[in-house]
Amino acid sequence: MCLCRFVAPVRARDNMRSRDEAHRTGKQSAYKRGRYTVKDSRKVCVVLGDDASPEVVTPTVRLVEKMGLPITFSWAVTGEEAAKRYGDIFPAAAKRAIDGADCSIMGSTRSIRGVHGYLRWGKECYANIRPAKYFKGLKTSSRKPTGIDFVIVRENLEGLYPAGWEGDIAQLRPLGLVSEKLGTPLNTDEPGKFAVKITTEKGTRRICRSACKLAMDRKRKGGPGKLTVASKYNGLESDEMFRRIAEETCKEFPELSFNSLIIDNFCYQMILNPHQFDVVVMSNEYGDILADGASALVGGLGIVPNACIGDNYAYFGSVHGTAPDIVGLNVINPTAMILGAAMMLDYLKFADAAAQLESAVRQTYARGECLTRDQGGTASTTEFCDYVAKLSV
Ligand code: ATP
Repeated sequence: MCLCRFVAPVRARDNMRSRDEAHRTGKQSAYKRGRYTVKDSRKVCVVLGDDASPEVVTPTVRLVEKMGLPITFSWAVTGEEAAKRYGDIFPAAAKRAIDGADCSIMGSTRSIRGVHGYLRWGKECYANIRPAKYFKGLKTSSRKPTGIDFVIVRENLEGLYPAGWEGDIAQLRPLGLVSEKLGTPLNTDEPGKFAVKITTEKGTRRICRSACKLAMDRKRKGGPGKLTVASKYNGLESDEMFRRIAEETCKEFPELSFNSLIIDNFCYQMILNPHQFDVVVMSNEYGDILADGASALVGGLGIVPNACIGDNYAYFGSVHGTAPDIVGLNVINPTAMILGAAMMLDYLKFADAAAQLESAVRQTYARGECLTRDQGGTASTTEFCDYVAKLSV
């Protein structure tokens, strides 16, 4: 399975070109002619998520349904709704629905427990792909947004967030830890908490390989073929290992160029000159934080999609969280989720449909008639989705 399928702007443009050609010549794409066979059919599990997430997930699924693809959606009941109905935030039926599908589309959840933890660690979706790509009409405070097009590839299962290896500092007392750099023992008498950061060679190698494959795919479509690794390699041994493995892995792809940046410097460079980046690989917590920052360069949290891909499963959604402050107002921007759905269609091998959906979103912004309030418009979530639907079906 090729990760690079998910973020391939030039190929998407190629697809758009062939679709425009099809419109001119009166030829319709295969799915519109109903040319699917049973082997084309796919199953997607829908996880609504918490707070305002269902307000973007439901209309996005409806939008995809209108495209007439051979996809069957199953709806997993999880979270508060499941707790109310079944007394369990992640009941067995929801797990079965996930396991029975080719992939899931997921709204952000408040907690990593339950469904999110299962999708991520249970299904080993280790590669978190977070593209920051500007297109015309997006409202951004960047001085020169045109041409910003890079992807953060975030290790999704290790680092500081394997969820739960934390505790009271006093628990570390029996280890008798002494700082190698300072030679001083850890003071375990001071009340406080510790958190464990795990960086395995295997986990690092596989995320770096995914990032290299993505950079190669983008290069084949006209991209610069550049891998950047961002880590705190000057301060942490684990981060130096991450950097070294990225460099070693990149050598297996001689067509790629490589550079390392200390994570602080990456943050600075990302704001000053984001155009220099192509594919940037980083560990879990850095990718979590910096992808939100990257989204600000291209229109904000409402825009940037999120794909979490493993060797046997994947789930798709948005970088943003549950947006609890705007729940129930029908104002949340569904763009990120719709673009996440486009990445999902690509994963499911409906490349034309993926390009069509992305193109419909781009056109919506280029026209600027029906935008949500975070983008300076007055449209509701529903109105925005209806507008995109008219352009995508
Ligand atoms: P998490 O820690 O779960 O990733 P977060 O801290 O990134 O969450 P969000 O839930 O993403 O927080 O929300 C941050 C702010 O951005 C909130 O004010 C929220 O309303 C706004 N926001 C997030 N997503 C959207 C969206 N799709 N459309 C409009 N506003 C959004």
